[in-house]
Amino acid sequence: MSDLEFFFVVLAAFYLWECAGWVSIGGMALVRWWGRWSFLAQPVGNHRGGFVLAQPFPPLGSLHVLAPLPVSLSPEGVLAYVATTTSRSGRPFQTGRFVAWNEIQSVAARRKVIRVNGARMVTTPSTTYARWLANELQTLAKLQPEQRTKAIQQFIQARFDESRIRQLTTSLADRLQPVRWLANLLLVVVFVVAPLVIWSRGLVSTWHFLLAGTFLTSGALAVLFWRAHREFFPSAEDERFSHGLMIALFPAAAIRAGDALSRPLLETFHPLAAALGLCHPTEFKQLARRLLLDMEHPALPLPTAHDPKLAALELWSRGATLEAARALVQRGGLNHAELTCPPVPAEACCRAYCPRCHAQFIIIEATCGDCGRMPVVQF
Ligand SMILES: [Zn+2]
Repeated sequence: MSDLEFFFVVLAAFYLWECAGWVSIGGMALVRWWGRWSFLAQPVGNHRGGFVLAQPFPPLGSLHVLAPLPVSLSPEGVLAYVATTTSRSGRPFQTGRFVAWNEIQSVAARRKVIRVNGARMVTTPSTTYARWLANELQTLAKLQPEQRTKAIQQFIQARFDESRIRQLTTSLADRLQPVRWLANLLLVVVFVVAPLVIWSRGLVSTWHFLLAGTFLTSGALAVLFWRAHREFFPSAEDERFSHGLMIALFPAAAIRAGDALSRPLLETFHPLAAALGLCHPTEFKQLARRLLLDMEHPALPLPTAHDPKLAALELWSRGATLEAARALVQRGGLNHAELTCPPVPAEACCRAYCPRCHAQFIIIEATCGDCGRMPVVQF
C-alpha cells in the first residue's frame, strides 16, 4: 500500500468515527438513513453506553440522541433516581440522592454533572442537557410551594410536546439544507474526486487545488454551522467553538456538521414524543407499548421501596409522566388502554404473564427474570 493509499484509508477511518454517535446507557438514538422515517438504533458498547452509526453515504441522513430525565420530581423535592428506563439495556447508575425543594441553596452544571448544594446529584448525557436541567431545577426551586406542583406538571408535560418537536425539526431541516449540500459535495470531493484526480494527474500538480477546494468548503460549512448553532443553542458557546474549529480544520468532521446540530436538538424531550412523527407508526406503536408498560410496572427491585417518603415521590413523578405519555399516545391516534391490555395465551398451557414484558408462563407462582423477578399475573 502506498503512502497516499494509506492516507485515504486513515481518512476513511476518521470519517467513520465521526459518523458514530455516543449514546449513554439508558438513552436512545433515532437514526435516519434513507427515506422519511427514522428508526431506533441499538447502541453497541459497554455498561456505560454504546455507539450508533449515522448514515455514512450520501445523502448522510440524520441522528438524534434522546435521553431520559435522570431525576424524579414531586412537590416535596428532587430524587436522583428514576425507576423507568427507555433503553433495553436497563437502568444507568443513579446516586439516589434526595433534596427537598426548601433545602436547595444552589444548582450548578459543571460539564455533564449537576451539583446541588455543591454535591453531585446526577450525571447527564451532555453539557447542553446538564445546563438545561440545572436551569429548570433552579427555576422550580425558587417557586413558592403552592406554585410548584403546577409548574412540575407543566415541566413534565412540556417534555411530551410533539408540536414543539415538529417545529424544531422543521426549522433545523430548513437551516441544514445548504449544510447538507456542501457536506455531500465535500464527501464526494474527498473520497471520489481527489483519489481520481491524484491517480490520473499526479499529486504534485493537483494537491494545492484539492486542498484549497476542501478547506474552502470546510470553511463555508463552519460558518453555516456557527450561525445555525447560535440560533438553536445560544448558550452553548464552548461546544460551538470546539465543533466549529473541528469543522473548519478537519474535513471528516465538516462532512458530519449536520449531526453536530441534530444530535442534541431533541435531547430534552421524552424519547416517546420524539418518536411520534419521526418513526414509522408501527415502530412508534411498539415503542409506546413497551414504554407505557415499563411506566406502569417498572422492573424490580425498586430501591425506593424501603422508604415510604421516597416511594411516594417516585410514584408521583412516574404517575405524572405516565399521564403525559398516555395523552401523547392518544394524540398519536392510539388507545393506551388497548396498547397495554393483557396478552392472550399463546398456547393452552400458558397460565400467567409478566405484567411488564408480557412474557408467558405455565406456572402461576413464577417470577419474570427479565423484569427483576417480577411476580407474574394469572390469565
Ligand atoms: Zn417480564
